Amino acid sequence: MTEKIVADLVIHALNAAVLFPTPYRGRGTPVGWSVVEQRDMSIASHDGHIVWIGPACEMTDQIRVTTDCAFINGQGRIAIPGFVDSHTHLVYAGDRSDEFEMRVRGKTYLEIMAANGGILRSVKAIRASSEDELFHESAQRLWKMIKSGVTTIEIKSGYGLDLENEIKMLRVIRRLANELPVRVIPTFMGAHVIPAERQSDSDAFVTELCEIWIPEIAKSCLASFNDVFTENKAFNVAQSLRILEAGKRHGLKPKIHADEISVIGGVDLAVEVGATSADHLLKTDDAGITRLANSGVIPTLLPGTSTFLMESHHAPARAMIEAGLPVAIASDHNPGSCQFFGASIIQTLAMLQLRMSAAEALIAATLHAAFALDLGAEIGAIEVGRSTDIVLIDANSYRLLPYRAGDSLIETVISRGIPVYSRE
Ligand SMILES: [Zn+2]
Repeated sequence: MTEKIVADLVIHALNAAVLFPTPYRGRGTPVGWSVVEQRDMSIASHDGHIVWIGPACEMTDQIRVTTDCAFINGQGRIAIPGFVDSHTHLVYAGDRSDEFEMRVRGKTYLEIMAANGGILRSVKAIRASSEDELFHESAQRLWKMIKSGVTTIEIKSGYGLDLENEIKMLRVIRRLANELPVRVIPTFMGAHVIPAERQSDSDAFVTELCEIWIPEIAKSCLASFNDVFTENKAFNVAQSLRILEAGKRHGLKPKIHADEISVIGGVDLAVEVGATSADHLLKTDDAGITRLANSGVIPTLLPGTSTFLMESHHAPARAMIEAGLPVAIASDHNPGSCQFFGASIIQTLAMLQLRMSAAEALIAATLHAAFALDLGAEIGAIEVGRSTDIVLIDANSYRLLPYRAGDSLIETVISRGIPVYSRE
């Protein structure tokens, strides 16, 4: 008789488990789009990793549970991978709801700026907040994300825009990682916008960023990624290249906000520096899509933002998918251009605005988003060996989740093998 597999968490008798039986194994970028709902399944986990997935009727024969094993009744539930939100600006202070209304009423970005709005308003608010205040405000938001099924989240700095306040934001992100029960990935984004006081000498600002800020942040292990807003009104391609190369020299992996407003070479730069992801891509054309094919750069689309900004044009997801690109989606949650909370509403918008199927949206919000954080081999799918990041939904198909926008179908959230949220 073969030895039984030891488990300290069991999800028993699920209506179905959602699996991605595609050739995505290993560290290469994923291909294929298949999603399968396997009926009458159980899942066993040990030490935070999935150790067994199989028919519910075979579980007792194959699994030996520890004395303190946690049992979750899966009856009537579907198990899907925990959502990976690979692009957020979740740490900020206050709100900009008045700007939202101004925009809806037809005011232009310049008029909003003239009324003291825009990113620089968030910069002032961050600088005026203490680390403690920022932590508590952000922790509340992160709990809302967790309740929506998010088990991994990337959070960027970028509203400090001086070294002291960028470090303050990154320390808040580290505290969120330590005190909340999900995986938090920190990104340094000192190159979010050129601060008001440095507009006249932007090249000197970039030099300071490369030679002082990045080494300091890397030395304190405060960030995994280094992100830059490559855009006419922010950093040009030459400046972005300097910033991303400086990050690489200090062990920070590159990410880019590219082609959001105009195509100035952000995608070419992403491919050239080997960025983990290129995000937004609202204006990316066929040449950009060809450039991204087989590049290893994960195209990350943010349909919440283009919706919130009332854009008539959205990112060309269909053309990307048809070109074989592993499209990821993320929330881009931030105080100015996207206030949507949680993963399922973003999947709804991916369907409505980007014309993705429910399966494409699900895989984009889990496995492909995991690749966008360079975690494609560890999280983002229900598979033996991966982290036990699983969400149970009260539905008979994963398709109900984006379809019933605004409804809460999330029953239980399991992060690294531990139930961290339950609806009861
Ligand atoms: Zn962003």
